[in-house]
Amino acid sequence: MSDAHNQGQFETRAVHAGQPIDPQTGAVMTPVYFTSTYAQTEPGKPIGGYEYSRTHNPTRTALQDNLASLEGGRFGLAFSSGLSATNALMDTLVPGDKVVAGDDLYGGTYRIFTKVFERYGIEFVFVDTTNLDAVRSAVCAKTKMVYIETPSNPLLRLTDIAGCAEIAKSVGAQLVVDNTFATPYLQRPIELGADVVLHSLSKYLGGHSDVIGGALVVNDEKLHADLAFYQNSCGGTPGPMDAFLVLRGTKTLAVRMDRHCENALKVAQFLEAHPQVDRVFYPGLPSHPQHAISQKQMKAGGGMVSFELKGGVSAGNRCASTTKIFTLAESLGGVESLIETPPSMTHASIPAAVRHAAGLNDGLVRLSVGIENADDLIADLKQAIG
Ligand SMILES: *Cc1c(COP(=O)(O)O)cnc(C)c1O
Repeated sequence: MSDAHNQGQFETRAVHAGQPIDPQTGAVMTPVYFTSTYAQTEPGKPIGGYEYSRTHNPTRTALQDNLASLEGGRFGLAFSSGLSATNALMDTLVPGDKVVAGDDLYGGTYRIFTKVFERYGIEFVFVDTTNLDAVRSAVCAKTKMVYIETPSNPLLRLTDIAGCAEIAKSVGAQLVVDNTFATPYLQRPIELGADVVLHSLSKYLGGHSDVIGGALVVNDEKLHADLAFYQNSCGGTPGPMDAFLVLRGTKTLAVRMDRHCENALKVAQFLEAHPQVDRVFYPGLPSHPQHAISQKQMKAGGGMVSFELKGGVSAGNRCASTTKIFTLAESLGGVESLIETPPSMTHASIPAAVRHAAGLNDGLVRLSVGIENADDLIADLKQAIG
C-alpha cells in the first residue's frame, strides 16, 4: 500500500487510502480496470505485476487496501458477497475443527455453517456470546474459531470483543468479528484483539443499496496468504465495477455514519416514549442492557433500531405497510430508510416457539434508519404506528 495515501485520521484515510492519483493520467478517481488479463514482457514476467483478474485487479487492490486501512489491519481481501467472504474463511478449516459461534447470527451465515460446512465435518456450537462465561465453557482444544456478530440482528445485542479475543487466544483459536452492522467508523475489532474482521460490503460500506460485496481484513501475514489462496482458488472475487462502487461508498462512510447514528438515536428516543411501543432495542440508549459495552467498544449506537409493538404480528405488519418514507424491504445500510418485520420477513423461517425463546417477539419491527431528515422520519413512524 502506498504509505503517502495511508496517512491521517479515519475520515482522511476513508477518502484516500489505497487510492493514489493515477500516475499515467492524473485521474483523481481510481480507474475501473475492465480487463481480465495483463501483458507480459516474457513468459512469467507481467509488466505491472498483474496476470489475471481473478487473482488480482488494480481496482480491487485499491478497495482491499482502503478497507485494511479503515479496519486498522495490514491486509484486505474483497469478495463477491459477504457470504463469499465467509465461505473463503471457512475453507481454511479441516474436518474435526470446531467453531464456537453466536446464536443469533445473520441467517445466511447460520445457513452456510449448518447446511454447507457441517457436511464437511466442521462442528459448530452456537452460544449466547453476550455471556462470556458461555463462550468460555464452549471453547476447547479443537476450537479453531470463535465467530461473533456485534451488534447482532435484529435485537442489536452486543458481545464484548476484547473479552472474546482473550477467550479465543486461551485455546489458540482465531476471533472472527462480523463488523457489518457497526462498520470500522464505529468499531474496530482488530484493535480489540480480533484476528479476522468480516464484512458484507452490501450494507453500510457500499452504503447506497446498489452493490453486493464482501471482505475480510487481517493482520497476520500467514493468515492473509492462506485466505488469498482460497480467494483465488475458489474464485469468489468482485468485478472492478463493484469494487469501484464500494470505494465510492467508503469515501463518505464517516459522514454517512454520523447522520445514521444521529437519526437513529432520535428515532429510538421517540419510540421509547411512544405508548404503543413495548420495548426499543438500540445500543445508544441508556436502557439497552449492554449500553456499557457500547460505550466501551463503539463510537456511537449505529443506524439500526428495533422495537416491539403492542398488538403482535398484525400491529408490526400494519406499521411496516403504512410508512411512506421508510421503504418496506429487507437489507440495511443504505442512505434511504428501510422498515421490515423480522417475524414475517427475515426471520420467518424460524419456528415461532424458537423465535420467542430467543427473545424475538411477534410485534418486532426493524428499522434501518437512513440519512433523511430526522423529523420527517419520526413523523412517518408516528402516522404509521397510529
Ligand atoms: C448481509 C449480511 C451478511 C451477508 O452478506 P451478503 O453481502 O448479503 O452476502 C453477513 N453478515 C451480516 C451481518 C449481514 O447483514
